Amino acid sequence: MNAEAATDAVRLHGVEYKWRARDAFGLSIGEFEVSRGERLLLLGASGSGKSTLLSLLTGLVSSQSGTLEILGTRLDKLSGGARDQFRAEHFGIIFQMFNLLPYGAVIDNVMLPLSFAPERRARAMAAGGTENEARRLLSALGLPADIGRQTAATLSVGQQQRVATARALIGSPEIVVADEPTSALDDGRQQDFLDLLFGQIDATKATLIMVSHDRRLAQHFTRVIELNDILATSKSGAPA
Ligand code: ADP
Ligand code: MG
Repeated sequence: MNAEAATDAVRLHGVEYKWRARDAFGLSIGEFEVSRGERLLLLGASGSGKSTLLSLLTGLVSSQSGTLEILGTRLDKLSGGARDQFRAEHFGIIFQMFNLLPYGAVIDNVMLPLSFAPERRARAMAAGGTENEARRLLSALGLPADIGRQTAATLSVGQQQRVATARALIGSPEIVVADEPTSALDDGRQQDFLDLLFGQIDATKATLIMVSHDRRLAQHFTRVIELNDILATSKSGAPA
């Protein structure tokens, strides 16, 4: 820990990634840095590579070149297993399609990340027990008290989104990543959801990185950037 507190949340330099297919989409990031505690919105058109970038910085896919430093750790130097462990401990991820286990109880969906993340588990334990913490988050996100026993498949889209958010927040990961989490909601519900999310993010001082195509969200963030503005412009050599 110690020196890590002084490091950025995210620091990408010269990162190249190309999906493994003929003529596949490639992403080339010049510089991308996020300080701890920022609430950042990254804007880009549909298909511009926002989800790909999130997969890269959470280590779901590995770059072909460049340096990715997360919380002071060189993600690009870790093995696949170590990357998975690092992601589980340090990232809360709200996926665009939520990725809940449909037949799992809501409460089990929320507690799931703790199975792979001893530090997050310890923080949830210290906050009053893992199950209590899961219930507290569900309630803080505006869900009814008895929702924990329902299976995820029975929930509305708005409820699924809040359950996915509770799952991302449990155990207070340092970085919360959200992939267009409001895209399925109407405007009034978007606002409610963002207020609840920001309330929880502020409480744990987590860094928030949200990606979206919706520029109306910009007013809610401490910094807004365009994906286009962090792309490397070099045309000299495509990645091998
Ligand atoms: P966005 O999230 O901004 O809509 P994506 O990162 O999902 O954009 O996609 C960017 C490009 O990468 C698209 O052309 C898409 O088809 C391609 N892509 C995404 N996922 C894969 C994959 N698993 N395999 C191959 N190509 C992919
Ligand atoms: Mg996407």
